[in-house]
Amino acid sequence: MAETGNEICVFISSRDSTCDECKRRLGKSAWVTVSGDREGAEKKVQCLECSDLEHLDFLPAGDVALTRRAKKHSPLWAVVLQWSKRRKRYERQGLLVLPEAIERAESECLADSDVRERKRARAAVSREAEDRVFVEKFTARIRDHYPSIPGGREVDIAKHACLKYSGRVGRTASAKDLDEDAVRLAVLAHIRHTETNYDALMMGGVARSDARAQIRGAVDAKLSAWARKI
Ligand SMILES: [Zn+2]
Repeated sequence: MAETGNEICVFISSRDSTCDECKRRLGKSAWVTVSGDREGAEKKVQCLECSDLEHLDFLPAGDVALTRRAKKHSPLWAVVLQWSKRRKRYERQGLLVLPEAIERAESECLADSDVRERKRARAAVSREAEDRVFVEKFTARIRDHYPSIPGGREVDIAKHACLKYSGRVGRTASAKDLDEDAVRLAVLAHIRHTETNYDALMMGGVARSDARAQIRGAVDAKLSAWARKI
């Protein structure tokens, strides 16, 4: 049998071939092994039956993990090669392995992707829970400091802050330690964009510092109004 290193090679023949052992005509594109292809030795073509490989199944190349596992689980396997006229070399088409090895490899790969999928789902759930906790805590903090804020605004502000902090590590922890300053800055930004003509000024080409100076009075008044105890 032809071997590259310790690999058994099966060739997909490109011409009419006959098995030198059982003398069967194999036709075109037969799967054969070639023995004695070392210098001086007579070349001998054998069909898969005569090569004792007929009980193996073909696993096409392409899935690296599946191939590696099938190989591991198959006590006997062979590499399937075909001559590429274009590239002028033999190219791997896949493996011949025991059908049980393919089954085992497939279930292992499936289990792996299941585990990955479950991990992803768990991460998404915990992120969602983390977001919920953050929004709840931020909302409560806003209400503490700005009891007269119109209902619902605190939730908008908290959700926006959550987006802003998304992807940052320890978001839940930081929500817990949210200081008054962080809350005030979030409420300020909200007032600037919803209660003043700040955005219009910016769109009109007014410099940021000038726009802020123009609206400062209105912003401060609104902030104090919302901070008033009910
Ligand atoms: Zn034969």
